[in-house]
Amino acid sequence: MDGNVNGIMGQGDELRGRRLIGSIAIDAGHGGGDPGAVARAGGNIRSGGETGADTGAGGVISRPESDKIMEKDLNLRLGAEIFGQALEAGLDAYMLRGGDYDMALGRRTELANGYGVDLFLSVHHNGAASAGASGTECFYFPGSGTGEVVARALQSAMVDRLKLPDRGVKTSDRFHVLQATRMAAVLIEPLFLTGTRDQELLEDGGYFRKLARAVIGGLIGINN
Ligand SMILES: [Zn+2]
Repeated sequence: MDGNVNGIMGQGDELRGRRLIGSIAIDAGHGGGDPGAVARAGGNIRSGGETGADTGAGGVISRPESDKIMEKDLNLRLGAEIFGQALEAGLDAYMLRGGDYDMALGRRTELANGYGVDLFLSVHHNGAASAGASGTECFYFPGSGTGEVVARALQSAMVDRLKLPDRGVKTSDRFHVLQATRMAAVLIEPLFLTGTRDQELLEDGGYFRKLARAVIGGLIGINN
């Protein structure tokens, strides 16, 4: 499986101009004072969860502490890996949040709409009150044909890679980033950072690189 993307790399120029997804904006969810879901390694302490507004409200901890896993950090690291691998695969890519700072949801969608990319990819990790919560899911806006195609490809690629429970491809009209984007938009939730089983994957040093490879492989597969 590790060879899949390598085997496809180099076709970027040939495919350019007739690809369904030739450019992407990568939205690393949360940031700054909004950590998203928060957990302690080995046991859940708190979860922000995803809401329609996804404002980060709910009293989640914003002060970095070394023994805590914060969703904003995972999202940024995975987003950065996806960004790098997107460039290598010949896609045009934009990183909407490139550090640990606050960024309004409206600003993210405004930037992506201005860039006019083919896909808005919102990178999140799930949180739940129960440490037993586990699995992979992703969302697209109801009625978006391209959104559905991309969501199904990414879900399949992530499940293949992570081997976690397949929670399915879902629609939601509650996420701002899916509502306010003019292009296809997909929000991914590869695993539960609050889940003891899922946390084992985060401890694998290759998690971010391998999952990014799966995501980019999924996107390239759509174009072929
Ligand atoms: Zn989130």
